[in-house]
Formats: sequence, C-alpha cells, structure tokens
Amino acid sequence: MLLLLAATLALGLQAPPARAEGILQVLERSQQIQLDALRRMKLDDADARSQRIHATFDAVLAHLNVDPNVPLIVVRAPILAVCLMGKVVVVNEALADLTESERAFILAHELGHIAHNHWAQLGELYLQHIPGEVVQQHTDGVAGRLGREASALTHQQEYEADGFALRLLRRMGAPDDTPIVLFQQHLPPVKTTATHPGTAQRVAHLRELQ
Ligand SMILES: [Zn+2]
Repeated sequence: MLLLLAATLALGLQAPPARAEGILQVLERSQQIQLDALRRMKLDDADARSQRIHATFDAVLAHLNVDPNVPLIVVRAPILAVCLMGKVVVVNEALADLTESERAFILAHELGHIAHNHWAQLGELYLQHIPGEVVQQHTDGVAGRLGREASALTHQQEYEADGFALRLLRRMGAPDDTPIVLFQQHLPPVKTTATHPGTAQRVAHLRELQ
C-alpha cells in the first residue's frame, strides 16, 4: 500500500525541513511519519494475537529468500496491512482471526513488495518527474502525469505481490483458492483506488494465475 503524490507530499510537507529536500527524502519522511504513528498503536509483544501473527510471519519467512530480519509490527489501527519504506511490515491484529494460510497470503504479499523492490521502483518514477529540490511550483506542473504513471505502477506492483504470495502459498502446501476465498468472503469488498486495484480486479488476476 502506497500513497500517491498529493497525499504523500501533503504528509511530507506538513513539517517542512530546515533544508531543501529531494523527492526521495520527502517520500521517505512521509512514510516515517506514518510508521511513527502506527508504532504508537502497536500491540504488546506478549499479546496472544500478536504472537499468532508473528508465528505465521516466521513460517512465511522460512520459505522465502528475503531478509529474515524484516521487522513486523502488529497494530490496532485502521489499516489491514502495509509495507513502509520498502522494509517494515505493519499489519492489523485482525489477521489473527483469519485462517493460517490466509494470514500467510497477506504477510507474503507485503514481503513481495520488499522482494520486488517496489519502493525503490516508485522512488525512481517520482525522481524522473521531480528531479532536484521539491518545490510546489515544480510538483504542481507534473502532478497529473506523475499521478497517472504512479497509479499504473502501483497497480502493477499489487498484482505482482499477489502473484508472489500465491507462489509462496503453493510452496507451503496451502490450497490454491486461499486468496480468492480471502478476498471474496473474509475481507470487505473494495473498489479500485489510485494505489490499489479493487477486489474484483484482484480476484480476476488471481484466477488467471490458477
Ligand atoms: Zn500491496
């Protein structure tokens, strides 16, 4: 899950830095602000729900070729799951109520964003449009085109992360229809947004991969 230009810049520019920043620094700082806010909603490590999610995360990591030290933060907050700054996974405690393989799918999806370097890809796209110092006169002029390209890229990244997670489930021996049951029966349906394809699009993509 990633924010698009307007929201990202609004967050990043809320507390303007003393010195001029490039777009990558603004992006990093906007995600750091989100991470700091989410950390304040972290569950206690001894919490049973948090421990159940961490156990699944460890099982998923054991099947993957990614950094085994990726931090996982379990929160009580209005998010389902997010990967921040391409290196920290934050998930809702509600994942504890899903089946083991559904939980594994969501966690693997977030790790897929890390494995595929999605944060760096998005940063490169922003940098192409906003080289040099970030000033509003520059960003206003490119916002439309950058917004469309970033949206296309993030949608593609969501599909890629879903594919990654599906392949992982297969390696773990989970049923192939796990993510479809998850999207259709256990998560509220969502419409397409600037950053994410809607439920119907994601289910259609998963069916193509069956
Ligand atoms: Zn995602």
